[in-house]
Amino acid sequence: MRQTPALENRLLEAIRVMQLEFLHSGIRYGWCESALTELLYLSQSEFGFICELMHQEDGTPFIRSHIISNVAWTDELREFHDQNRERGLDFFNFNSLWGAAITSGEPVIANDPDTDPRRGGYPKAEGHPPLQSFLGLPIKGVAGRVVGVMGLANRRGGYQAAVAEFLEPFVSTYGLLIEKARQDRREQALIAELDRLSHQDPLTGVANRRAFDEVLEREWNRCKRKRRPISLILFDIDFFKAYNDHHGHIKGDECLKRVARALNAWANRSGDFFARYGGEEFTFLLSGEPAEKAIELARICRTSVAHLLIPHGHSSVAPNITVSAGVATRVPDMKQAPAALVEQADQLLYQAKNRGRNQIAHS
Ligand code: GH3
Ligand code: MG
Ligand code: MG
Repeated sequence: MRQTPALENRLLEAIRVMQLEFLHSGIRYGWCESALTELLYLSQSEFGFICELMHQEDGTPFIRSHIISNVAWTDELREFHDQNRERGLDFFNFNSLWGAAITSGEPVIANDPDTDPRRGGYPKAEGHPPLQSFLGLPIKGVAGRVVGVMGLANRRGGYQAAVAEFLEPFVSTYGLLIEKARQDRREQALIAELDRLSHQDPLTGVANRRAFDEVLEREWNRCKRKRRPISLILFDIDFFKAYNDHHGHIKGDECLKRVARALNAWANRSGDFFARYGGEEFTFLLSGEPAEKAIELARICRTSVAHLLIPHGHSSVAPNITVSAGVATRVPDMKQAPAALVEQADQLLYQAKNRGRNQIAHS
């Protein structure tokens, strides 16, 4: 059965528009209103859906709607449908006509759905429009694997193989768009993961120097605009070289992890930022708070590290691991760069070291 040239042109136009829409916004659930409208028109169907085949974490397959006709069986269902349209509705019953299309990888034509053995349990809830005929089309992606399914219902006179054949270019284009969307999602996840890793210190899991530099720049500028103070605390473990030399590098690493965890536990205000500055040095950045707050935090942190009671047999200041800290606070002015704050904290840290270690020096 050949389709009319008008219908064939309409098919080509529908494919073109679908690709344009994809380029414009990608597959977001519920995006393809016009794709379904066209699909219904081209197949002369009453209602239908386009779903993507997905898997839960435990491997359970299900299909999620990209678009689905609102056949709203009851008021309750209509509300549910409206609320979940954007996110997509999930269906799990593969013992169904659409399930047969996915499992077989072939179109499923059911012109007498009520007696069709593949039917399973299609929704017969009160108010569900009667299903007179059904066409299920598996959507295939790369290498013929099934990535979704389209379902169409109630074509006058029922469905024939020729209808499935006619729609094939539309369905296979859709399959490639699903593949492309998946590839994009995988790439985005990879980029996000790389971004996360490049800002994290692998040993302690806290933010690293790169993250610190970015946050310092941003917070410095924010405080400059708002004329608010910004504080930097620079911690340095006392006699850590001796600790490494006498307890070994592995113990040294273990110690760094415990100190990082103890300090990071105090980073609970949204304006606080904690990072490993490098080696055995850690830093806190506080924006918009008065100097006293930063000094108090530095004191609490120094005590917390001392309370870890990590034995240090070769420190001349205490029998355990301790830290010294420099606390610098200033309201950024136009002439300075953020490095000025680091420089100041570093000098104060040096003072704390010179005064005997295991203490805080502030501006
Ligand atoms: P001070 O009290 O003056 O700070 O003396 P210090 O010995 O702590 O200072 P110094 O800068 O001489 O030594 C720092 C040591 O930190 C040297 C280096 O071996 C150690 N270190 C830096 N990064 C790491 C690391 O990732 N793991 C381990 N185990 N040690 C590290
Ligand atoms: Mg140091
Ligand atoms: Mg040190």
